[in-house]
Amino acid sequence: MIAGLGPAGRALAHRCTQQGLDVLALDPHPYRRWTPTYAAWADELPAWLADDTIATRVEKPVAWTTREHVLDRPYVVLSTPGLQESLDLGGVKVVQDRVAEVARNHVVLASGAKVKAGYVVDARGAVRSASIPEQTAFGVVVDRDRVVKALGGHEAWFMDWWLDNGTRPAEPRSFLYVVPLDDNRVLLEETCLVGSPALDLKELQRRLQVRLALRGIHLTGTEATEKVRFPVLAPTPSLRNNQAFRFGSRGALMHPGTGYSVATSLALADTVASAITAEESLLRTVWTPSARAVHALRLAGLRTLLKLKPHQTASFFASFFSLPVDVQRTYLSERDNLPGMTRAMARVFADLPMSQRRIVIAATMSARRSAGNDSHI
Ligand SMILES: Cc1cc2nc3c(=O)[nH]c(=O)nc-3n(C[C@H](O)[C@H](O)[C@H](O)COP(=O)(O)OP(=O)(O)OC[C@H]3O[C@@H](n4cnc5c(N)ncnc54)[C@H](O)[C@@H]3O)c2cc1C
Repeated sequence: MIAGLGPAGRALAHRCTQQGLDVLALDPHPYRRWTPTYAAWADELPAWLADDTIATRVEKPVAWTTREHVLDRPYVVLSTPGLQESLDLGGVKVVQDRVAEVARNHVVLASGAKVKAGYVVDARGAVRSASIPEQTAFGVVVDRDRVVKALGGHEAWFMDWWLDNGTRPAEPRSFLYVVPLDDNRVLLEETCLVGSPALDLKELQRRLQVRLALRGIHLTGTEATEKVRFPVLAPTPSLRNNQAFRFGSRGALMHPGTGYSVATSLALADTVASAITAEESLLRTVWTPSARAVHALRLAGLRTLLKLKPHQTASFFASFFSLPVDVQRTYLSERDNLPGMTRAMARVFADLPMSQRRIVIAATMSARRSAGNDSHI
């Protein structure tokens, strides 16, 4: 039984039926159209994902920190309706209802009814709270021919930290994210990577307008918009209690330093479905000791981002994007590769000035101290 049919729950329901499992899925809005623009590194996506779920592909996205970095790693924007439809729910028993409580072998519905199952997976999305850091962004959709020159001729800016968005020196920084949605439209998003509290959407909208106007793109106010706000953290599932297995952003599968979770959930859906078929522990399958250790290091990365002074942000990312792309991939995408993650962090550390190294050391020590209690940073 799966509670929640967002990208994570729907992918899992779909892959479970592909493996011949009986699936009951519950969601108060099981067929509501998804609206966010989901993107991922192409190499993170599972081979079973249909080609037509990919709306656009950029071979070499670019980042600007204190200089330009061409990232030799293809990046894809998913077609949101295409993704939703391709995760076919034929064969899944879908019930429109709100799950009020989730336990290892049963759920309690909002009506009070109790429903039992051999395996219960909680994929109800991340829970917001004032103490949990969030990512925020404000985006506009603009015709490609209006922006192409202003963006230096590049197709996609993974991160552009250029300080032309009206931010004063002491204020937290935000960056511009630009991706093509199709042949004609581009999404331009002013993004607060992570904050506690994160920058509010009005401020991001103001910065986006200032930045784009300086680049000759004058918004009319009629453009379609995308508003982004989500928590980047959820408690790491624990072996100590008798909880249901949590999956997707609910189950700490989001990278806390980037806010990405969709590709990880898609990629792990088969692993979880196979573990159910084999009647294995889902928790031990997904949260190996190595995955837990990598997650703790990612939390240290999140703490570092939260502690960096505004003027240090761009140079910190300059160190990161100077890494060879396979080392970047390990840091960003390999959630079960502890030696690789340690090497990636050591290489960034070696390149940082002493003031930023102190922040990384303090963040790593504090992540170690609070291991097991990581829902609040
Ligand atoms: C605008 C936006 C853009 C984003 N872009 C990206 C991106 O490019 N790449 C990326 O990797 N991530 C992105 N994210 C972050 C994150 O990956 C997404 O939030 C993603 O939707 C998480 O998927 P999920 O299935 O874990 O949770 P959700 O998408 O939150 O789905 C949760 C599901 O559970 C259901 N539910 C909730 N409560 C209950 C209940 N009580 N009982 C039963 N069902 C319930 C909901 O109806 C929903 O269907 C973005 C987020 C936003 C908001």
